[in-house]
Amino acid sequence: MTKKVATKRPVKKAVAKKPVKKVLSKKVPAAKKIDPKTQTIESLLELIRITSTVVPDDVAKTLMKARSQEEQNTTASYAMNIIKDNMDLAKFKSQPLCQDTGTVIFFVYHPPGFFQNDFKELIKKAVVKATQKGYLRQNSVNSLTGENAGTNLGEGHPSIHFYETKGKEVEVKLVLKGGGCENVSAQYSLPDTTLGAGRDLEGVRKVVIDAVYKAQGKGCGPGALGVCIGGDRADSAYAAKKQLLRKLDDKNTNADLAKLESEIVETCNKLGIGPMGFGGKTTLISCKMTHANRVPASFFVSISYMCWAFRRQGVVLDAKKNTIKKWLY
Ligand code: SF4
Repeated sequence: MTKKVATKRPVKKAVAKKPVKKVLSKKVPAAKKIDPKTQTIESLLELIRITSTVVPDDVAKTLMKARSQEEQNTTASYAMNIIKDNMDLAKFKSQPLCQDTGTVIFFVYHPPGFFQNDFKELIKKAVVKATQKGYLRQNSVNSLTGENAGTNLGEGHPSIHFYETKGKEVEVKLVLKGGGCENVSAQYSLPDTTLGAGRDLEGVRKVVIDAVYKAQGKGCGPGALGVCIGGDRADSAYAAKKQLLRKLDDKNTNADLAKLESEIVETCNKLGIGPMGFGGKTTLISCKMTHANRVPASFFVSISYMCWAFRRQGVVLDAKKNTIKKWLY
């Protein structure tokens, strides 16, 4: 018995000592690397941070041009100056542009064979982390009980939409849609006899202008519109919102819609509603339109109204590392 014990002990010690040192030296550099899932969460977190705190370049450029066109020492120019100060401060302090960080809407474009459910879970983790860090306010509330989980997770939130593409990379776009501007979004059913709006582009023009007129600066104008002509009620509203993903300086490939977009902006900016409804030249900074087939019985026009705090961003993720390879706006 004693002999057996004596032979075992030295063997155990010898085996235990050498590998411990080797394993430690290998593990140290490995620990510095982030595993792919954690890296994806970090990339999504950074997407949320930038979306919440920095107005995208195309929007900032358009807002600053509008600011320079307002008459000095008017309430409109005062409002535009406050908007500028707000933008500068939010970017500098990396804090949300507005206390309402809005409905969190993700659009994910991915190659075939992508695991949507896994990605959804990573998005949720990033949203929780962003909420803890204050990039997102604890906004999302259960519509039946009024309960706020404090995480921005719940039934239907965040809103996540997937699209399979032929590309090899994953592209993630994010819109934070404020409640005030969502409240003045609208849907019309043509013909609308009260407005004399028929089932044609002239009728569409009338109802879109009516929506802007009725908003009267509520929804924190100057506003940006996404519009869909046709579709059923649900798809029409969604397609209108998706128009907010377009850059403000792009041009509609449909010549009729391109013309209508410019006309609507021009007309609305002559209404005198102005920033925040204070009067002035800037009521709208953009209008982007699309269309969808409808059935003969219906003709919906959906209008998604976005406030000056136009929060949308997007990234392309590196296919191997899941780091942010490119910013889209
Ligand atoms: S409408 Fe926009 S700017 Fe106004 S409170 Fe809501 S998120 Fe903020």
